[in-house]
Amino acid sequence: MRMEAEKMRKGRLFNIQRFSVHDGPGIRTTLFFKGCNLRCRWCHNPESYLPEPQIQYFAEKCVGCGECMAVCGQGIRIENGSRVGTERCILCRSCEDACMSGALKFAGEEYTAGELVEVALRDRDYYASSGGGVTASGGEPLLQYHFVRELFAALKEAGISTALDTAGNVEPGRFREVLPFTDLVLLDLKIMDEELHKKYTGVSNRRILENARMLMELGQRMQIRVPVIAGVNDTMENARALRNFIGDYGCVEEVRFLPYHDMGLTKADSVNVKMERFAPPSQERLEKIRELFADRNRKVK
Ligand code: SF4
Ligand code: SF4
Repeated sequence: MRMEAEKMRKGRLFNIQRFSVHDGPGIRTTLFFKGCNLRCRWCHNPESYLPEPQIQYFAEKCVGCGECMAVCGQGIRIENGSRVGTERCILCRSCEDACMSGALKFAGEEYTAGELVEVALRDRDYYASSGGGVTASGGEPLLQYHFVRELFAALKEAGISTALDTAGNVEPGRFREVLPFTDLVLLDLKIMDEELHKKYTGVSNRRILENARMLMELGQRMQIRVPVIAGVNDTMENARALRNFIGDYGCVEEVRFLPYHDMGLTKADSVNVKMERFAPPSQERLEKIRELFADRNRKVK
């Protein structure tokens, strides 16, 4: 019975990106899972916030032809650059099909593990030649951990390397379910100070740091990722706290600092999320932060 249920399980994604080179080593297929339990104020993927499927509307692509309104049986309209009446949307996707300018996009496609393995296998030669594989990202993939476990098990069986890109704010048991099938964890450690973390992400970092500690104690191969935002976490204090936290754990193979960019803003508008504009850190500050980690026996980017 349980086996049957597992065969039927589906994962909900908002994007699949082939030939990705930023989400782990080599050339990868990145699977972006829908749903997140953080609310980072600089989020690059705000269409991932809600676990439910939704229609994104990109006003800058809209030519005002009205085709979407002509086919919508729910009477949802576009007025002054916004969709009105979306609470009635039944996600039939007729408007998306009718829109020739690509202004409407469904986010929240569901796939079985088998379907995703099939997608991944298309690029297996690239993974083999570059040391790449598949990365589960998001959103927060561990909100769908049963599915990720099943998917990773199937990928490993197919000889494909797996990476889990997570913000880590989940029960530790979820990691333990997925880790046996995970080659590499990409863990975000955004802000070390708990109050600042709450202020900018909406949640405490306590559980995240406990999970990070657990992973390091387990010797799990890891890459730590830090989005760096001017005036938020680009301080030497934060960098020193992170360096002390990671210490000499050899399993942390790389620490990667990712300067803020504002590409999430258009996507935020498309799902009606209010998002602030931040700024990237200065190059000088970024170099200083990276230098702090340079004496350690690991890659720093
Ligand atoms: S998905 Fe269907 S119900 Fe929703 S706005 Fe489009 S056409 Fe209307
Ligand atoms: S069909 Fe597309 S381009 Fe035309 S009004 Fe609707 S969203 Fe705009």
